[in-house]
Amino acid sequence: MLRLVYIRPGIVEWHEVPELALRGAAEALVRPIASSVCDLDLRILAGRTPFLGPFAFGHECVAEVLEVGAAVRGVHPGDRVVVPWHINCGGCDRCRTGLTAHCRTVPAGAMFGLPAGGEWGGLFDEVVRVPYADAMLHPLPHDIDPAAAVSAGDNLTLGLELLRGHLRRRPGARVLVLGGGGSVALYGAQLAAALGAGRVLYLDTDRARRAVAAGGGAETHAGPPVPSLGEFDVVFDSAFDAERLADSIALLAPEGVVESSGVYFERVELPLFRMYVQGVTFHTARANAGPHVPAVLDLIRRRRIDPARVVSETLPIADATTALAAPSLKPLFVRASLGSARAGTSARTA
Ligand SMILES: [Zn+2]
Ligand SMILES: [Zn+2]
Repeated sequence: MLRLVYIRPGIVEWHEVPELALRGAAEALVRPIASSVCDLDLRILAGRTPFLGPFAFGHECVAEVLEVGAAVRGVHPGDRVVVPWHINCGGCDRCRTGLTAHCRTVPAGAMFGLPAGGEWGGLFDEVVRVPYADAMLHPLPHDIDPAAAVSAGDNLTLGLELLRGHLRRRPGARVLVLGGGGSVALYGAQLAAALGAGRVLYLDTDRARRAVAAGGGAETHAGPPVPSLGEFDVVFDSAFDAERLADSIALLAPEGVVESSGVYFERVELPLFRMYVQGVTFHTARANAGPHVPAVLDLIRRRRIDPARVVSETLPIADATTALAAPSLKPLFVRASLGSARAGTSARTA
């Protein structure tokens, strides 16, 4: 089977690797039919992270279930499923309280598509082994296009996970979105509005991304964050820009909140005295994803968000090696579904 392998900045390659098989009754084998790159992947491809190749690449996809172990109840061969970016058991104390990215049963950091916590393959691979199928996989409703849900296991769900609690506590909250990293901020702007924000202002130096945000209903501005833009209750940061992050704190109302999903490998200076005076809460985290996937799929079904608007182009997955040399904002890579191929064969013979 084929595996997409990150080699070095700008270079990914298809490698032939041994076929996978189920190793236990709780497992599933799945075939990614729609894959994309997360904002961190874009930085890996640009050579702006500490991660060195080679490693199996990619951790966002919608897949088709090929085979399940005898103990799997929640998904069946042929189902389309959202696959979360990380590996989790579903049964430990952390998984049961929603901290699935911190599962105790698997090595720390265990995930697809990065050299962390073992070798789990990547979500562009022809076949992926999912060790805890019932805990990890979420069936995709028939009326949702994989293009809309391709990031539901990572970048899309992150915004819901980080913003929902604040918007429940403060209906009508004013949300400042710091864009620049890629899709997380664009999804976040849509989610903030859908979850009840009273104002959503999307800041980004990039005109094309601002246009995507505006199409999704957000006010936009090229920035930088200056107090004349207004006062905000929540900053949702996915800028990967330490200066913008620090400057945005001056725009926060008393007891305001910063939710930072930008990944900063460098040391970042924050204006702690201003934060002390204003009573600012700062939270930075990656997604637990899984527990929040049903809520995000529900928002898609009810047309409260339109994540497919963020997709920049749709390509055959074989083209990933060329397209990822200089990736667009959110390329969608598609692979034929074996289920529909079989259905097509029987329809022709019928
Ligand atoms: Zn990611
Ligand atoms: Zn667990």
